[in-house]
Amino acid sequence: MTRYEKMRQGKRKVEEKILHVGAYCRVSTDKNDQANSFESQQRYFREYIERQPNWELIEIFADEGKSGTSTKKRTAFNHMIDAAKRGKLDLIITKEISRFARNTLDSIYYTRELKRLGVGVIFLNDNINTLDPDAELRLTIMSSIAQEESRKISDRVKWGQRRRMEQGVVFGRDMLGYDINNGVMTLNADGAKIVRLIFHKFVTERKGCHTIARELREAGIQTSTHMKEWSNTVILRIIRNEKYCGDLVQKKTFTPDYLSHEKKYNRGEEEFVIIHDHHEPIISREIFDLANAMLDSRAMSPENKTKISNRYLFSGKIKCGICGATYVARYKKRADGSVYKSWRCLNAQRYGAPRIDPAGNHIGCSGQGFPENDALYIVKLLMKSLNINRKLIRENTTKSISSIAPGTESAIDALISGDTSDDDFYREFLSRLVITNRDRVDVILNLLPFCWSYNSGASSPRG
Ligand SMILES: [Zn+2]
Repeated sequence: MTRYEKMRQGKRKVEEKILHVGAYCRVSTDKNDQANSFESQQRYFREYIERQPNWELIEIFADEGKSGTSTKKRTAFNHMIDAAKRGKLDLIITKEISRFARNTLDSIYYTRELKRLGVGVIFLNDNINTLDPDAELRLTIMSSIAQEESRKISDRVKWGQRRRMEQGVVFGRDMLGYDINNGVMTLNADGAKIVRLIFHKFVTERKGCHTIARELREAGIQTSTHMKEWSNTVILRIIRNEKYCGDLVQKKTFTPDYLSHEKKYNRGEEEFVIIHDHHEPIISREIFDLANAMLDSRAMSPENKTKISNRYLFSGKIKCGICGATYVARYKKRADGSVYKSWRCLNAQRYGAPRIDPAGNHIGCSGQGFPENDALYIVKLLMKSLNINRKLIRENTTKSISSIAPGTESAIDALISGDTSDDDFYREFLSRLVITNRDRVDVILNLLPFCWSYNSGASSPRG
């Protein structure tokens, strides 16, 4: 045998090696979508793999959901990556890039990671094998196109949904007093009775939400299917729900990011779809408006105000200066048994001190706990500092700010002239507190282009 023949022989050996193949697909649970059902995809991959000499099917990994972008729960995908890491797979086949990863970056990240492990990914419809030399460029191009495609689809869906909302189609589910079928609301007589009872207790009998909830519980009145139990917040939401006086407001939540599909409360980012007198009311507009005016005046009472600020003042606004995580509140006990509220980095809370877990991930954080009273102290200090620097702030910043964000000038005026109460100030102006340690806290405000740095008792504005 010549040297060349031996080389051929060696090559053939490599080729004859059995390849362990995994298949990845996204399956549709929609009965009308048989083409993407698990059975049909399974058949497809089995047949495909059988046709290839030396391929052995190890497993078909299937996640639910058709669209490649809604991939929060990619359990099977993660299993597959694990299997590859454990050396169980040599090759992964999948139909399309759009079904494989959430976006361009994701597909590059995972195919690189797999390539490093010696595992190739073949995208059958796109004709890409990631072990080919030019694969990454083609993958980038193809997955950018796929990403753009799914953005367009998301836009189209949004647009269609909006048109349908404007035509009065209801997106939502049954609620107390109304049944919703195929986008049409019909009055539910039994539920409507309870709604009227609640408004009667609130407006005529002048009972509070807590009392009403208790009375309904005690009377053994059933809640509608989606509520667990009568509580003051349930009652509050009922009184605030404009559907009961016949109006329909939709688009209360929206999806800012078509990749994550996460829902957010619409605070004016997108236009609401409002239709007056859309359906049969349960409560007259007069009673509804009266009830809501009563709620507004109660919300303004000093007693309620402190309740609100204590509960929500720093929620989501304290960030870890070390790892960037959000601080979460918890109650701690002093040596004398009394309880106080303190904030701690979520990362540190969950995983403790920084370390590397068996899978090689950096977890944990050294971010220190921070008592709520200290946070309050710092913010109050900043308030004082703002008042002292009133003139300077007015001169230097309101002009530039109001040109950026029209309408904020009057708010800033109220703030620096002391017309704004502490609570309003905290809620409106405090963007976040970044805690690096007990002695180093940065305060960032929403409207003023300053970052206050608090260093063990001394606070000074930085530009
Ligand atoms: Zn942290």
